[in-house]
Order: sequence, then C-alpha cells, then structure tokens
Amino acid sequence: MQNARKQGGKGRRRRINVVWFKHTDLRVHDHAPLKAAHSCRDVPVLHLFVFDPFWFRQKTPICGFPKTGLGRAQFQIEAVRDLEKRLFDVSGHRLCVSANLGAREVFQKIVEQFEVSSVFAFHEICSEELKIQRQVETVVKSQGGLLSLFWGFELYHIDDLPFSPEQPGSRGAFKSYTAFRKRVEEGTDESNFTEIKTVATSTGKERGVQIRRSSENDVEAFLPPDTHGVVWVQSAVSLSRGAHQFASPSAEGSSSGSLLDGITAEALLGIEEESGEKMENRQKDPRAECDFKGGETEALRRLHTFLWGEDSLALEYVGATMTTDPAKSACRDKAMSKLSPYLAHGCLSPRKLYEEIKKYEASVKEGLRKNKKTYWIVHELIWRDFVRFGAMHFGDKIFKLGGIFPSTQGFRGWAWRWSRDRDLFFRWKEGKTGFPFIDCFLRELEATGYCNHMGRECSGWFLCREMGVDWRMGAEWFESVLLDYEPTANWLNWVYRCVPAADGSNIPPAISGEGHILTLQILAWGAQHDPDGVWVRRWIPELQGVAGLLSLSPAGRVGGTSSVGSLVREPWRLMGTFWDEDVETGGSRVVLSDEMLSVSESMGFSRERVERAVAKALRETGDDWVDTDVVVALLVEEGEEGAGENTSDGGQMEGQKREDGKRQQEPDDPKETRTFVYGRDYPKPVVRPMCLTNTEDIEENARFAQAQNAAWVEKLRRSLEMVREGGDLSTLGRVRLKGSTGIGGPQASKLAKEREEERGKSVLVQETEKTENAIQLSEKGAAGSGSQKQGGGGQQGNRSRRWKKT
Ligand SMILES: Cc1cc2nc3c(=O)[nH]c(=O)nc-3n(C[C@H](O)[C@H](O)[C@H](O)COP(=O)(O)OP(=O)(O)OC[C@H]3O[C@@H](n4cnc5c(N)ncnc54)[C@H](O)[C@@H]3O)c2cc1C
Repeated sequence: MQNARKQGGKGRRRRINVVWFKHTDLRVHDHAPLKAAHSCRDVPVLHLFVFDPFWFRQKTPICGFPKTGLGRAQFQIEAVRDLEKRLFDVSGHRLCVSANLGAREVFQKIVEQFEVSSVFAFHEICSEELKIQRQVETVVKSQGGLLSLFWGFELYHIDDLPFSPEQPGSRGAFKSYTAFRKRVEEGTDESNFTEIKTVATSTGKERGVQIRRSSENDVEAFLPPDTHGVVWVQSAVSLSRGAHQFASPSAEGSSSGSLLDGITAEALLGIEEESGEKMENRQKDPRAECDFKGGETEALRRLHTFLWGEDSLALEYVGATMTTDPAKSACRDKAMSKLSPYLAHGCLSPRKLYEEIKKYEASVKEGLRKNKKTYWIVHELIWRDFVRFGAMHFGDKIFKLGGIFPSTQGFRGWAWRWSRDRDLFFRWKEGKTGFPFIDCFLRELEATGYCNHMGRECSGWFLCREMGVDWRMGAEWFESVLLDYEPTANWLNWVYRCVPAADGSNIPPAISGEGHILTLQILAWGAQHDPDGVWVRRWIPELQGVAGLLSLSPAGRVGGTSSVGSLVREPWRLMGTFWDEDVETGGSRVVLSDEMLSVSESMGFSRERVERAVAKALRETGDDWVDTDVVVALLVEEGEEGAGENTSDGGQMEGQKREDGKRQQEPDDPKETRTFVYGRDYPKPVVRPMCLTNTEDIEENARFAQAQNAAWVEKLRRSLEMVREGGDLSTLGRVRLKGSTGIGGPQASKLAKEREEERGKSVLVQETEKTENAIQLSEKGAAGSGSQKQGGGGQQGNRSRRWKKT
C-alpha cells in the first residue's frame, strides 16, 4: 500500500476506526455508528466532525442563497460544541473537528496517517449527501477500509417496513401520506413496545412493524479513551485565525475550552460580520417563543420541559398538521413542540422521543397524560418518516419543477405558468405580499429561522398558485433560512403539499376550477387560527395601526365590519371607492362602496361631503380608485368645516376627530396617534385580494371552540397538578380520562357545529381526512357563486382596479 508507512514516516500506520458525525446525528444517545465502533473491542476510535465548506460556501442554484444560512450555521456550531462536551463527559473521548476542507479531502488526509479499518456513519438519502458519502467511501476503500452505514434518523427502521421504499412495488405506500401511515401503523404493536427485540433484516419484510428501542443505554460500552482514543492532530482548525491553521487538541479535554472556539458562523460562510454583530451574540427575538440553541443538551432540556416540566404535550400541543379543528389554534405559543431543529440535526433521536412519549402517557395511571395530542405527535413523526422514505422512493423528482405527481394523473406541474419574477419573489420572501396571513409567517421565519407548518404550507401555496413563481425559489429560501432544514422534509413537503396547489389538483374537483381558491382557504385558516389577528399583529406590528383606525369610528366599525381580526387579516377591506363609467351621461361619477359609506356614516359626514372628498382625492392622484383611509385623512384635515352635517351625533364625532388630530401633533408619542395609511405602512396586496363574507362566523366559531378548549385545558392542568401533589382527583370536576380526546378534539368540533346549526347557518364545508386537504371554505365560495367579495377587473398579478359593491 502506497501510504502504508506514515505518521511522519516513523512506522506503520495505526489501525483505527472512525465515527463520522454529520450535521444530522449530533448526539451520543441512540447512535448506532458510535455504538458499533465501540463494539470493535480492539480497534481504537477516532471521532470526527467535518464542517464541509460545501454546505456553507456553496449557493443555491437559482437564487444564490447560502445553502446554510447564518442562523443554522450558528445552531450547528453550538450543536457540535455540545457534542464535543458530551462525548468527553460520557466517554472521555475527544471529538476531532475540521473546518475548511471537504469531507473527501479530510478522509484523504486521515487515510494517509492512519490505517482506517472502518468508517461508521448514518445512511444518507438525497443526491448531494449521497455524492459526498460515495466520495468518502471511495477514499476509504482505496486504502482497504470499509464504510459501514446505519439507519437511525427515522422512527421506523427501514428493515422493519413492510415494503422497500426504493422498489416500484412500494408505489401504493407513497400514493399519499395516509396510505403510508396505514401501512406502517397496521403492523405496529405499541403495547409491546418495551418488550421489542431488534428484529428483521432487509430480506425479512413481514408484517409486524415495530419501532425499535433506542440504544441510549449503551454508554457503558465505550472503549477506554487512554488506550483506544485517537486524536487527529490536524483536525482543529480555527477559521478566525485564517485558513488552514491547525492546532492540537489540549490534553485536558473539553474543560480547558473547546476546539471550536475560533469557529464562527460568519467565518464558515466566508462573510464579514455584519455591522460588528456576530451571530453568536445575537439575542432572541422578543416575539419568539423559543431561543433555539443547538445541541443534544438543549434538545433533552426542551423535551423534558415540553413533556414533564410543563405538560405541554397533554395540554396545549396542537401539532404541525392539525389544521381542521376549530378548537385548536396553531398560532399560539406551545401549540407546537418546536423540536424540529433538534430532530433535523439529530440532537434528539425520534425513537428516544417516542420512548419518552410512551413513558409520559403511562406515567399517570388515570390516563390523564394520554390523549389525542400524545398520539398526534407520533402521527407527525410518521409524517417525518413518510418524507424520508418518500424521498428514497421519488428520488431527484423532489427537486424538479414538475414535482412528483405524474402528468398521467392530470397534474400539470410542468405546464403551470411558472415565472422567475425576482420582484414578486422578494416581496414574498420579505413578508411584503400584502396578505397578512402569509407575511406574518415569512417575517417570523426570517427573524427566527422557524415558522409553523401552516405558515410554510400557506406561503408555499401562495407562491405557487397566486404568484406563479417558480416554487424552487421558495424551497431554496427555506433551505437557507430554516433552522430545522432537512432536505427530504423541505423538498418533499414542497412537492407533495405546495406544488399541487399550482393547478388546484390537491383541492376537491368540485372547486378546483376556481381561481384564488387557495387564497380563500388561507383566509379561512386565518380566521380560524387567529380570529382576533393577534398572531398577525405580533409579527407585523404596523398592522396595529389598522386596529387603530377603528378608534376613529365611534361605532367601532370600519369597512362594514366590527372585527379587528378581519381588518388586520384582510386590510384591503379598507379599499373601496372608485370612479365608475356613467352609462347614461358617458362621463364618470364617484361610486362609494359600502365600506366607504359605513365609515362616513359612522364619522358623522354626509354622503355628499364624502363624495366631494373622494372626487378631490381622485383628481389629485389621477388614479381611478382611492382608499378609505386617504379619504378619512382628507376629511380630518379639512376639520370642522363639515362637522355635524349628517347625523345628530356628528358634532360629537368631529369633536373626537379633533381630539385625535390634536394628539397627532404631540411629539412625545407619535406612534400611538399616527394614522395608519394603507400602502405606506403596510403594502397593498401583490395580487388581487378577496374577502370571505363569513369571516366573522368562522372567527366566532373558533373563539367559542377555543374558549371551550382552554377551559378543558385548565381543568386538566389542575388535575395534573393534583396528581403531582398526590391529591384526590374526585374533588375536581369531571375531566375525561383514559382515551380522552379532550374538548379540543372532535367534541369541540361537535359543539361548534351544534352552535352553528342553532344559528341556522352552515359556514364551513369540511373535507374529510380522506382527501387530506383540510379545505374549509364558504359553501357559496366552494360552489363558486360569489359569496366572496372579489376584485372585478384585472388579471392575476395585476391588482384589481375596481371593487364590486356587495
Ligand atoms: C413547505 C414546507 C417545508 C418544510 N420543511 C421542513 C424542513 O426542512 N424540516 C422539517 O423538519 N420540517 C419541515 N416541514 C414540516 C413541518 O412544517 C415542520 O416539521 C414543523 O413545522 C416543525 O415544527 P414542530 O417541531 O413544532 O412540529 P410538531 O408538530 O411538534 O411535530 C413533531 C415533529 O414531527 C416532524 N414533522 C411534523 N410534520 C412534518 C411534516 N409535514 N413533514 C416532515 N416532518 C414533520 C418534525 O420533525 C417535527 O419536529 C416543512 C413543511 C412544509 C409545508
């Protein structure tokens, strides 16, 4: 062998094994490669992590975003630092870290110095990762070594599935998520979970799928570090000191400081630190629920708090894909586990999570900690497996414009009117589409690296369907910015959930011909999940100003509605006045919309007065429509002149307006009094907007169901507290025990429905789980008969100039 005598030419190369940690397995628990390496009793082990420049310096192909954005780079540094510490603490072994060479080059150097018997690592699935894996394999094999791969990112072990994902025969399992879930759940024997032995091989694909136990209890099997620990002295690289400077790890171990101390997110990406602020010093956004810090320690802490500390799983958890139940709002703190960054980086193994859930459910014998929510998180983990194994099944189709659905099924993904309009795309990316229930999520995402599933799905639909922008630009943005980015989860969710929105093929056939149908869906979800617009205002603070407009109107009514929620979610309700062709005279005249009339009446101005103000505004702007708020501002400016001309309380109104006007002069607190100007303070919609006529019904149902749910949660909380303190549960009111789905489940829906029926209105059409589309629309909207208000003229991408009176 060419390099058989190395280590400075002093003798035979030392025979070693390598555990190759990657950014998807940054933990010591349930780590099959680690366990396997330490089972080879007489071979010393080198533990290696490579910050491969491929993931940091490469850019996404269309938009040129860094493949790993600063936030995730920082998360990874923290997670690797934590791994270094934990590995040392549990085993005494050192983690060797390399930063500015690719994995292939690093292994090339290692095999020159050592005789590598085996490299132990987890399997990869997607093409870029597989390419690197193959390169390393080639290097290792060239020196007579082996690359030994293990499965363990998923909940179900691939060998235990009743089908082989890569085989065409598994098509049925990947027809839909539900088909997949049924196939794997059918054979799962949960009751036996604690008894499960590791079973099955890749050839024995029988029913009886099991979730294997995690291998967390194997720590005592570590080889002694003094005789079997290997430190690769070239591994420590301090980027801050310039490229290719190597340092030897200190003999005292991690207590003396980390080898990663010089590595910063900015250095990994090769960029200057912006305005002197380093990513590592960045403070949590005060609006965010979680301060995501990378690492296994943080992952286990979060898991502990989520389950045992705060009982959030049994109490507040809603879950990523739970969108239809009006009692459960996804737009609240604690509604999601927010474990995804930890799962994506492997800081938490899904099997460890599963075990903890099972322990948690069994921990109170009355069953208070076992309910639909504790099932639902497992359902989400099955989603995670669906996208992992699904990506094996579909291969590189998940990265292609046309997506995964064949045109033979009628999907027209390739033929959709995709554009690469950068301006449109950047309005989307920056949360400036003018659709608050989209923008709030995109702003949260940019500020924190996270937004909930609903936000990802709605914004994805919108980009595909309404904006017609090449969806891969959106997926690239997510790839760069998401803290929990994982290729299969990102790209398969895009092609499976969002791309079909383009031609409406993931919505029921009866309504798929409707333009904007998914916008209606988004509006309906907004009304249901954020009835008072609190979430929207949290992430788009300038929309507080819309709510402020209500105070201009004594009746608290603007735009024909009294709901702050609907105004902040659909601010275009403020737009409403336009010139109309006068058929008889051939000239034009001012037509006041209902919204405008409602405002003028409520403010005490006569119709004529408002018409005059509108005409003036139209003349000045040269436009053929004008916003309500502009007219309001004009009337206010003109002051007393027209006060009291309409109603008996007009004087009072004007008095109030003058008061407002006076406050506006005060320099001390300009924010409080600044009148919201639509278009200046928040953008007008990027495509033709529309309104749901039954928004307030949806809001009201949601408020009712969510209040009921909150009451149920409080009751359960008290019960759990009593159990902890050893109290007598019978002294409390009834809480549904074992198997309870709680008021937040079907019961809430039932209550809401009953209430609806009482009101003699059927507001929502709910698709069953079978369609998986969770569509809720107004019945009339679904039938396409115009229950929604919408812009009359103009094409998509060309904002409507006129509004129909409704
Ligand atoms: C367009 C789009 C892109 C996405 N990109 C990613 C991504 O890059 N990484 C990622 O982890 N998730 C992705 N998701 C899935 C999902 O939105 C997130 O997993 C979820 O929002 C994470 O929040 P959570 O941990 O609080 O979820 P929880 O509700 O607490 O769920 C628990 C765990 O289940 C898994 N999970 C839940 N739903 C899904 C799903 N639909 N697909 C895959 N896994 C799921 C996650 O690991 C999650 O942490 C994407 C979804 C969409 C629609």
